[in-house]
Amino acid sequence: MSTLSAVLKGTVRAFGTTFRNFFRKPITEKYPRSPRPIPRRWRGGTFALTLDPETREENCIGCRLCEYICPSQIISVKLRKGEPRANGKGATYAESFHLNFQACMQCELCVQVCPTDAIVMVRSLHPAGASREDLILTKERLIQNGVRLLEQPELQSETTGNRIRAWMSAQATEEAGS
Ligand code: SF4
Ligand code: SF4
Repeated sequence: MSTLSAVLKGTVRAFGTTFRNFFRKPITEKYPRSPRPIPRRWRGGTFALTLDPETREENCIGCRLCEYICPSQIISVKLRKGEPRANGKGATYAESFHLNFQACMQCELCVQVCPTDAIVMVRSLHPAGASREDLILTKERLIQNGVRLLEQPELQSETTGNRIRAWMSAQATEEAGS
Protein backbone atom coordinates (compact mmCIF):
# COMPACT_ATOMS: atom_id res chain seq x y z
CA MET A 1 0.00 0.00 0.00
CA SER A 2 1.37 3.38 -1.01
CA THR A 3 1.84 6.13 1.54
CA LEU A 4 -0.89 8.22 -0.12
CA SER A 5 -3.51 5.48 0.09
CA ALA A 6 -2.57 4.76 3.72
CA VAL A 7 -3.04 8.46 4.57
CA LEU A 8 -6.39 8.56 2.71
CA LYS A 9 -7.60 5.41 4.46
CA GLY A 10 -6.60 6.78 7.85
CA THR A 11 -8.31 10.11 7.11
CA VAL A 12 -11.55 8.44 6.03
CA ARG A 13 -11.57 6.25 9.17
CA ALA A 14 -10.93 9.27 11.38
CA PHE A 15 -13.79 11.21 9.75
CA GLY A 16 -16.02 8.14 10.09
CA THR A 17 -15.38 8.08 13.85
CA THR A 18 -16.06 11.81 14.06
CA PHE A 19 -19.39 11.48 12.22
CA ARG A 20 -20.49 8.49 14.31
CA ASN A 21 -19.91 10.40 17.54
CA PHE A 22 -21.36 13.63 16.14
CA PHE A 23 -24.88 12.17 16.22
CA ARG A 24 -24.57 10.38 19.57
CA LYS A 25 -26.44 11.68 22.59
CA PRO A 26 -24.00 13.51 24.92
CA ILE A 27 -23.31 11.69 28.18
CA THR A 28 -22.07 14.74 30.05
CA GLU A 29 -23.74 15.25 33.44
CA LYS A 30 -24.79 18.87 33.87
CA TYR A 31 -23.77 18.94 37.54
CA PRO A 32 -24.71 20.89 39.65
CA ARG A 33 -27.76 21.96 37.58
CA SER A 34 -28.96 18.35 37.47
CA PRO A 35 -28.07 15.94 40.30
CA ARG A 36 -25.27 13.53 39.53
CA PRO A 37 -26.32 9.86 39.86
CA ILE A 38 -24.17 8.18 42.50
CA PRO A 39 -23.68 4.39 42.27
CA ARG A 40 -24.97 2.21 45.15
CA ARG A 41 -21.42 1.06 45.97
CA TRP A 42 -19.88 4.53 45.93
CA ARG A 43 -17.19 4.80 48.59
CA GLY A 44 -15.97 8.30 47.95
CA GLY A 45 -18.65 10.07 49.97
CA THR A 46 -18.45 10.79 53.64
CA PHE A 47 -19.04 8.83 56.86
CA ALA A 48 -21.76 8.68 59.50
CA LEU A 49 -22.21 7.34 63.00
CA THR A 50 -25.57 5.62 62.99
CA LEU A 51 -28.38 5.82 65.54
CA ASP A 52 -30.87 3.18 66.64
CA PRO A 53 -33.97 3.93 64.52
CA GLU A 54 -36.29 3.05 67.43
CA THR A 55 -34.63 4.73 70.41
CA ARG A 56 -32.31 7.17 68.58
CA GLU A 57 -29.46 6.00 70.82
CA GLU A 58 -25.91 5.99 69.46
CA ASN A 59 -24.83 2.65 68.03
CA CYS A 60 -21.13 3.35 68.66
CA ILE A 61 -19.93 1.54 71.77
CA GLY A 62 -16.50 3.16 71.72
CA CYS A 63 -14.71 -0.20 71.28
CA ARG A 64 -11.96 1.39 69.12
CA LEU A 65 -11.77 -1.53 66.69
CA CYS A 66 -12.06 0.92 63.79
CA GLU A 67 -9.14 2.88 65.22
CA TYR A 68 -6.95 -0.24 65.46
CA ILE A 69 -7.75 -1.52 61.98
CA CYS A 70 -7.49 1.73 60.03
CA PRO A 71 -4.36 1.40 57.87
CA SER A 72 -4.04 5.17 57.53
CA GLN A 73 -4.33 5.62 61.31
CA ILE A 74 -6.72 8.50 60.95
CA ILE A 75 -9.41 7.46 63.44
CA SER A 76 -9.18 8.21 67.12
CA VAL A 77 -11.86 7.22 69.62
CA LYS A 78 -12.03 7.87 73.35
CA LEU A 79 -14.14 5.42 75.35
CA ARG A 80 -16.45 6.43 78.17
CA LYS A 81 -18.74 4.40 80.40
CA GLY A 82 -22.27 5.70 80.85
CA GLU A 83 -25.85 4.75 81.50
CA PRO A 84 -27.02 1.40 80.07
CA ARG A 85 -28.84 1.87 76.79
CA ALA A 86 -32.59 1.34 76.69
CA ASN A 87 -32.15 -0.94 73.66
CA GLY A 88 -29.85 -3.28 75.62
CA LYS A 89 -26.72 -2.58 73.58
CA GLY A 90 -24.46 -1.93 76.55
CA ALA A 91 -23.31 1.08 78.51
CA THR A 92 -20.13 2.18 76.75
CA TYR A 93 -19.96 5.15 74.40
CA ALA A 94 -17.50 7.14 72.33
CA GLU A 95 -16.62 10.17 74.41
CA SER A 96 -15.00 11.64 71.31
CA PHE A 97 -14.56 10.41 67.75
CA HIS A 98 -12.31 11.94 65.11
CA LEU A 99 -11.81 10.79 61.55
CA ASN A 100 -9.32 12.74 59.45
CA PHE A 101 -10.93 12.43 56.06
CA GLN A 102 -8.03 13.95 54.10
CA ALA A 103 -5.94 10.75 54.46
CA CYS A 104 -8.79 8.24 54.08
CA MET A 105 -8.28 5.76 51.25
CA GLN A 106 -11.86 4.44 51.38
CA CYS A 107 -10.68 0.91 52.12
CA GLU A 108 -13.87 0.33 54.16
CA LEU A 109 -12.09 -1.75 56.82
CA CYS A 110 -13.48 0.42 59.61
CA VAL A 111 -17.01 -0.29 58.36
CA GLN A 112 -16.38 -4.02 58.09
CA VAL A 113 -14.87 -4.40 61.56
CA CYS A 114 -17.48 -2.41 63.48
CA PRO A 115 -19.46 -4.84 65.67
CA THR A 116 -22.54 -2.61 65.94
CA ASP A 117 -22.74 -1.19 62.39
CA ALA A 118 -22.10 2.18 63.95
CA ILE A 119 -19.75 3.61 61.35
CA VAL A 120 -21.00 3.56 57.78
CA MET A 121 -20.15 5.20 54.49
CA VAL A 122 -22.57 7.73 53.08
CA ARG A 123 -23.33 7.77 49.38
CA SER A 124 -23.18 11.48 48.79
CA LEU A 125 -20.67 13.97 47.58
CA HIS A 126 -18.48 15.19 50.40
CA PRO A 127 -18.84 18.95 50.78
CA ALA A 128 -15.68 20.70 49.70
CA GLY A 129 -13.60 22.18 52.48
CA ALA A 130 -11.55 25.34 52.48
CA SER A 131 -9.21 24.20 55.25
CA ARG A 132 -7.77 21.04 56.73
CA GLU A 133 -10.06 21.41 59.74
CA ASP A 134 -13.06 21.11 57.40
CA LEU A 135 -11.95 17.56 56.65
CA ILE A 136 -11.85 16.45 60.27
CA LEU A 137 -15.05 14.53 60.89
CA THR A 138 -15.86 14.98 64.55
CA LYS A 139 -18.39 12.92 66.47
CA GLU A 140 -20.91 15.76 66.20
CA ARG A 141 -20.57 15.95 62.41
CA LEU A 142 -20.74 12.16 62.08
CA ILE A 143 -23.86 12.00 64.25
CA GLN A 144 -25.45 14.74 62.13
CA ASN A 145 -24.87 12.51 59.11
CA GLY A 146 -26.39 9.62 61.10
CA VAL A 147 -29.53 11.66 61.74
CA ARG A 148 -29.67 12.38 58.00
CA LEU A 149 -29.48 8.64 57.31
CA LEU A 150 -32.51 8.01 59.52
CA GLU A 151 -34.49 10.22 57.13
CA GLN A 152 -32.77 9.01 53.95
CA PRO A 153 -31.47 5.45 54.54
CA GLU A 154 -30.91 5.05 50.80
CA LEU A 155 -27.89 7.34 51.15
CA GLN A 156 -25.93 4.62 52.96
CA SER A 157 -23.34 3.02 50.68
CA GLU A 158 -23.83 -0.61 49.77
CA THR A 159 -20.41 -1.63 51.03
CA THR A 160 -18.80 -5.07 51.11
CA GLY A 161 -19.75 -5.57 54.77
CA ASN A 162 -23.44 -4.86 54.06
CA ARG A 163 -23.45 -7.26 51.16
CA ILE A 164 -21.69 -10.04 53.09
CA ARG A 165 -24.09 -9.64 56.03
CA ALA A 166 -27.12 -9.66 53.69
CA TRP A 167 -25.74 -12.79 52.01
CA MET A 168 -25.09 -14.53 55.37
CA SER A 169 -28.55 -13.70 56.64
CA ALA A 170 -30.12 -15.01 53.39
CA GLN A 171 -28.06 -18.22 53.79
CA ALA A 172 -29.19 -18.62 57.42
CA THR A 173 -32.86 -18.12 56.41
CA GLU A 174 -32.45 -20.67 53.63
CA GLU A 175 -30.85 -23.23 55.97
CA ALA A 176 -33.55 -22.68 58.60
CA GLY A 177 -36.24 -23.29 55.95
CA SER A 178 -34.67 -26.51 54.60
S1 SF4 B 1 -12.05 3.65 55.06
FE1 SF4 B 1 -10.72 5.36 55.66
S2 SF4 B 1 -11.14 5.62 57.82
FE2 SF4 B 1 -11.92 3.60 57.29
S3 SF4 B 1 -10.26 2.16 57.73
FE3 SF4 B 1 -10.05 2.76 55.59
S4 SF4 B 1 -8.64 4.50 55.59
FE4 SF4 B 1 -9.37 4.23 57.69
S1 SF4 C 1 -17.51 2.97 65.21
FE1 SF4 C 1 -17.76 0.77 65.62
S2 SF4 C 1 -15.68 -0.04 65.67
FE2 SF4 C 1 -15.51 2.19 65.90
S3 SF4 C 1 -15.51 2.55 68.11
FE3 SF4 C 1 -17.62 2.73 67.44
S4 SF4 C 1 -18.48 0.66 67.75
FE4 SF4 C 1 -16.25 0.44 67.79
